[in-house]
Amino acid sequence: MGIHLLPPRIAAKIAAGEVIIRPASVLKELLENSLDAGAAMIEVYIERGGKALVRVTDNGEGIAAQELQLAVQRFATSKLTDAGDLERIQGYGFRGEALASMAEVSELVIESQRPEAESGMLLQIKAGKVTVRKEIVRTPGTTVSVRNLFFNLPARRAFLRSDPYERRLVLQKLRDYALLHHKIHIEVTSQRETLLSFQPVSDWIERVREVYPALRGVELIRVSEQHRLLKVEGFIVRPDQTGELRRMQRTFFNCRPVLYRAVYRAIMEGFGPQPSNRPPFFVLKLTAPPEMLDANIHPTKIEVRYREERFLFDFLAQAVRKAVHREAVKTLKFPTRPSSLRTDEKIERQIPIPTSPPSTRAYPSAMPKTPTSTAPLEVKGYPETHTGFWQLQNLYILAQTSSGLIIVDQHAAHERILYEEMLERLGASPRQRLLFPLIVNLTPEEFATFEEIADDLKGLGFEAKVFGPNQVIVETLPADSKIGPRDLRELFREFAETSEVKLGNRDKMAALIACKAAIKAGSTLSQAEMESLINRLFRCKTPFFCPHGRPTVVKFTMDDLSKRFGRI
Ligand code: ADP
Ligand code: MG
Repeated sequence: MGIHLLPPRIAAKIAAGEVIIRPASVLKELLENSLDAGAAMIEVYIERGGKALVRVTDNGEGIAAQELQLAVQRFATSKLTDAGDLERIQGYGFRGEALASMAEVSELVIESQRPEAESGMLLQIKAGKVTVRKEIVRTPGTTVSVRNLFFNLPARRAFLRSDPYERRLVLQKLRDYALLHHKIHIEVTSQRETLLSFQPVSDWIERVREVYPALRGVELIRVSEQHRLLKVEGFIVRPDQTGELRRMQRTFFNCRPVLYRAVYRAIMEGFGPQPSNRPPFFVLKLTAPPEMLDANIHPTKIEVRYREERFLFDFLAQAVRKAVHREAVKTLKFPTRPSSLRTDEKIERQIPIPTSPPSTRAYPSAMPKTPTSTAPLEVKGYPETHTGFWQLQNLYILAQTSSGLIIVDQHAAHERILYEEMLERLGASPRQRLLFPLIVNLTPEEFATFEEIADDLKGLGFEAKVFGPNQVIVETLPADSKIGPRDLRELFREFAETSEVKLGNRDKMAALIACKAAIKAGSTLSQAEMESLINRLFRCKTPFFCPHGRPTVVKFTMDDLSKRFGRI
């Protein structure tokens, strides 16, 4: 057979298959049309997961009777893209393809009436041919029914999966659009069952919680940043709460649900290192001028690409970091104490709290050279007798906060603090000079590694000099280190065994030092020490995780507790 052009009917069928893949894509197109028509109420009805029927009814602006026929033709659209500023990106349609495509591969009925008209029009189309055309009277708005999808394309029909599977995709699609448009009443029924129903709400957070019932009792952190080229709004869940909320991650770009790996990576970056098996919950709406986006990588517009990906990454990571930090500051608000204690408090407020407690546990005895940054800046002045902090098994610190209870891992928390303090002021990080400098014997390999990284270590507050063959003398340590001779031996061994360290990775060096220098599990802490530790932890940039990514804090809100006790 020679080369020939496809008959238009067949070409149209093929084109239709690119836009319409399954019932969920039918729903997507119909929802977008209803939203474009300014509907305040959208009712969806499905049969057999949408394979037998998807019907969408809206109370939008409707289609004039004389234009109905045009609406179902290819490349017929009443919409123009408006490549304007961020606020004006609203419309979904522009290609005028969807209705025509669906009409090609199903039995489609469309009926519509405009609010000011006395009557409306109904069209029934089967495989692209109009079979019924009649005047009707109905409430203003539009109803589109798509029956027996792909009845005329058996190969496509066979590609559809089970009813429950298709239904799940339909509901997912509906949830996405419900999330995007919280002021709209939107619901889906099947036979006599209401599957989902969302009432209009004024605050987006209410819709988010309705769409994800698993968020009950879970605190959400609001993320909100705006720039000329990018705006982000949304919610993330505090990392220590994410356990049960796996895989609930939604990204919307310019009002469309999208898949975007870079967004996920930026969020993880913003949270800081954490165990990789704990993906955070998030739902984020991104908005950007259309020219910044390549949205047509895929015909169903699921994947997008922002033109300046580096900027997107940094912007999002920063937005999340700020939000997490705000949350950390909030967590630190301790409840005000009963007024009977107020007078005592006033007096004792002036008693300075020891900054680095004269410790008998820490070896060697250390003397702060200069006032260090370890002094708690915002300590509320709890007297020594204050019992707001509890130590559990010399391992965890329990503290009451204004919204509930936090449990802090003393070692992990101290690790995080030391780590950030070391890296924050490289070269000038607070250090303590040892009263009795320590001599450490090294293996030749450890010694070689030491010689290579000695300058970097010094920058971190860890000063040591060559003392003899394969011998070093340690003179200063990062301030507030609790480190003994055996820890030091191990530390030099770890330096030599860690390839990142040998390559000059300072973060890694700091992480290893922090781990050895942090308060050990099993150390008893005073009230003042516990309070200082918690205050300093929440001044960290990434307070919720230690440098290895283990959590430092677990938080129970009053809601969490009420849930456990069956109060709510
Ligand atoms: P597009 O949305 O790209 O314009 P469609 O094929 O989806 O293309 O729709 C064609 C036209 O039909 C739209 O531009 C709009 O004018 C009209 N239309 C479709 N659905 C509705 C609806 N629910 N309410 C009002 N008008 C609609
Ligand atoms: Mg459309």
